Amino acid sequence: MNVFFYIIIFIIGTLFGSFYTLAVYRIPRKIDIIYTHSFCPNCGHKLGFFELIPVLSYIFLGGKCKKCKQPIRPRYFILEILSGLTFVALAISLKLDVYNLDINTIIKFCLIVLYFAAIFLLAGIDKEERRIEKGVLYYSFAVSSAYIIYLCIMGQTSIYRYVMYLVALITLLIVDSEKQIKEAKQSYLFQILMLIVVMLINTGEFVTLFSVVIPLIAVFAIKSFYFLKNALNKSFKIHKNMMEIYKFGYLFCLSNVIIFIFTLYFTNH
Ligand SMILES: [Zn+2]
Repeated sequence: MNVFFYIIIFIIGTLFGSFYTLAVYRIPRKIDIIYTHSFCPNCGHKLGFFELIPVLSYIFLGGKCKKCKQPIRPRYFILEILSGLTFVALAISLKLDVYNLDINTIIKFCLIVLYFAAIFLLAGIDKEERRIEKGVLYYSFAVSSAYIIYLCIMGQTSIYRYVMYLVALITLLIVDSEKQIKEAKQSYLFQILMLIVVMLINTGEFVTLFSVVIPLIAVFAIKSFYFLKNALNKSFKIHKNMMEIYKFGYLFCLSNVIIFIFTLYFTNH
């Protein structure tokens, strides 16, 4: 029965994944994410019910729009599967068991799912546009507050630490909107700081530290490698894909999800 239970969790994960890809496409384009019907970005064809099923629709349609036959980017399909797998990995890490369901674990699972939604959206938008979306940051502020309330109800003793982070987050949000920071570079740094505070609240100091340090070491290693390679070849052509490594929000988010799930696994098993 547990296998069946995990299959359901996988399906819920793919539904969320389908929503993330939609939101990452729509939020930067200022298209409504709830009321606007799903459409083909090429011909505007409104998708029918059977074209909206995550993973399966992509397979049945042969990766093409039903109307204009324009190929659909396979990343939608891949991201839906990855989202499903993330949900299953999270359920396993929390020891979610259909025979032994306790309300506490379910609430924890739901809160982490809400947090991951913020992280996935921030990562997706940063990867596309190299910026941390303010609207999603406000949402993660709400999620962080909900998590702190949950800890309060559970009688967590070190609640002050979380409140301190929350105050830091509010301060950064106010400074960022008040100052109207014109320089994109400075604003990006500010928003990365807010992202780190959100991570601190929801995943703790240990996970956050590694989520930041590991990508930074990786970026430094890659940069040094290219620098040496260029110096040896005496050509200073910058690789086009090199820009990808400067999307720190995207990198931190990815490592945060992976490290958090592993940490949960090892603390619960
Ligand atoms: Zn189309």
